[in-house]
Amino acid sequence: MCDCFLSFEDLAVMRIINFTVVLVCLCSFNLFASTSFRTEFLVTEQRAVAEPNQLIEELALIQLAQRISPAEHAYNNTLLARLYLFQGDIVRSKSYFELAQQQLPKDDDWIQGYWLMYRSVFSLEEGQLPESIKQIRLAQNAFIRANDLEMQVQAESIEGALLLWQEEYPKAIEIIENAYIEAKTSNMSSTTMLYVYDSLAAYYSTMSLFEKGEQYAVLARDIASRNGDVVNGLPIIYLLCITYERAEKLDPAAACYEEMIMVSAMVKAPRYLFFASAGKASVALKQKNYSQALQLSYLAKSYINTVIINPAHIIALNNGFAKIFLALQQPEQALEYTQASELLLADYDRPLNNRYSRNTLTLKAQSLEQLGHFEEATNALKLLIKLTEQAKATTQQKLEQEARSQFESTQQDIKLQLAEEKLKYQQITLDKLAKEGQLQTAYSVIGILAILSITIFALNQRRAYLRSQRRANTDPLTGAHNRRYILDFIAAQLIGKQQDFSVAILDIDHFKQVNDQYGHDIGDQALIAFSVLLTEHLANTEYQFARFGGEEFIVVMPNLTLVQGHDFITNLCVCLKSLSLTDKKITLTSSAGVAQMQPGLALNALLKVADTNLYRAKNIGRDKVCS
Ligand code: GH3
Ligand code: MG
Ligand code: MG
Repeated sequence: MCDCFLSFEDLAVMRIINFTVVLVCLCSFNLFASTSFRTEFLVTEQRAVAEPNQLIEELALIQLAQRISPAEHAYNNTLLARLYLFQGDIVRSKSYFELAQQQLPKDDDWIQGYWLMYRSVFSLEEGQLPESIKQIRLAQNAFIRANDLEMQVQAESIEGALLLWQEEYPKAIEIIENAYIEAKTSNMSSTTMLYVYDSLAAYYSTMSLFEKGEQYAVLARDIASRNGDVVNGLPIIYLLCITYERAEKLDPAAACYEEMIMVSAMVKAPRYLFFASAGKASVALKQKNYSQALQLSYLAKSYINTVIINPAHIIALNNGFAKIFLALQQPEQALEYTQASELLLADYDRPLNNRYSRNTLTLKAQSLEQLGHFEEATNALKLLIKLTEQAKATTQQKLEQEARSQFESTQQDIKLQLAEEKLKYQQITLDKLAKEGQLQTAYSVIGILAILSITIFALNQRRAYLRSQRRANTDPLTGAHNRRYILDFIAAQLIGKQQDFSVAILDIDHFKQVNDQYGHDIGDQALIAFSVLLTEHLANTEYQFARFGGEEFIVVMPNLTLVQGHDFITNLCVCLKSLSLTDKKITLTSSAGVAQMQPGLALNALLKVADTNLYRAKNIGRDKVCS
């Protein structure tokens, strides 16, 4: 609170202090320019995300210095553009992005990647989703060329989140999980983990898997708070609040938005004051606290002109108003807000248009119904059904594109069939009623139709999700779990929760000879048989295994110490030797390296220990277990 009452003199003193800091920075520029910039850039970035306001001042001054290279100019201006977007000064942000673009050195892939990555985020704010996705992919290519795997993983995470906006869920999770595995196996920085967790949280929250969503959002938030990072921290707090709200945890959601309001006010970020007050309004509405909901919505509305340009956010706020007025039985006002949304939607031709139109049309139909305008309400609902069918068709297309595997759950199929049959039945009833001129009844039938269409749509989405989940976690040859699954399992279920667990990496000995001698097909069969034996051996235990790659398998043994794990694997390897394939008598031996988890050990380090032990087992003659 105190800093609101700083006197003019105090401010003047602070400026002098800031200026001194800047001058010190300027003096050290020779050194800065002579080395590779990346590390220095990242140091500046760390300060910027912790103290955006201060850095805006400093960077603006630094830009006046003569002796800085085009790359530094481009970098500083991109960073400024990011910070202005964070605050909600959209106009300034855009002009800094433009300035930086003109300064981008052609031969510096890294700076190009950096600019593209954050310009992509800005494009999303502009409502330019396709452009945004294009830019984030270009950013990844640039980081690959610049040989910066870590930045590439950050960009990959952002791409995953953008695909959620595009409702490309299977693709999104594939990309995000890939980023996760790369980040985990290469022990990447906390900032990179923050980006990955953020996208995982967004994915699970969107897919209504709230517990997982919350879990990843909390992981991301904790990193942000440890790093004192408000620029990334505030959007994550926002995501956490949304997740609570979607999960109907209304009290934690309200408290979360309250915290967000406090932090946003403290760092003077009106953009997040908009999101927080709109979010809190929506919670108040759910709690049936209409006057508070209305008050907070007006507060949110007061920020719009300056800090938000993405029509999606404005439409969501308008529709929030409509919901409140509907609850207050004031359909005229509700209708005004849905009309405002329709106006915005008319100029907003994006994939998301469909989803926002669906929301708007539902509210419009409800308003018209309250007003007793059944014919118009019916028309709105008919349009809603059409849009839902369109959305369904797109999902269906996406489903068919990847229709190699069987449907995950027949349960889902049955539900879907039932819903589709009901839909047909309702359509017949509707035609009959329309002929008989029974308008009000026809309206309610159309209402049911709309609900059914939406149910079918949701079921299709869920099915697409389940299928992509299964594909993402399974090794196609053996049907066993894959590397991605097992690393996720260890990270989510074991690390930090349980001290006693061991892992073993098994590698079949001289497997190349099997391929050379009997052919690749027999090699494949051997791998399948090996995996079947492992499944049988581990059945009825809490141990899990996965094909780790090639002819390598990993076994994870919760609650086993190193000695116990060593014995278990020795026993297992003896059993695996009994493997013989139908007509060919092939005996395979395998070598294994065992390692036990230690408190504070990173997953990557644990795997390295197991791998080193495996290497030793190979070196001392194979068919051995080392720990
Ligand atoms: P070592 O005892 O040192 O482990 O010898 P190795 O021959 O098993 O090891 P190396 O790593 O040299 O070769 C592994 C072989 O596994 C080479 C590769 O062709 C084969 N392989 C990997 N994946 C598959 C697969 O999916 N199917 C088949 N048939 N072979 C595979
Ligand atoms: Mg191998
Ligand atoms: Mg081998």
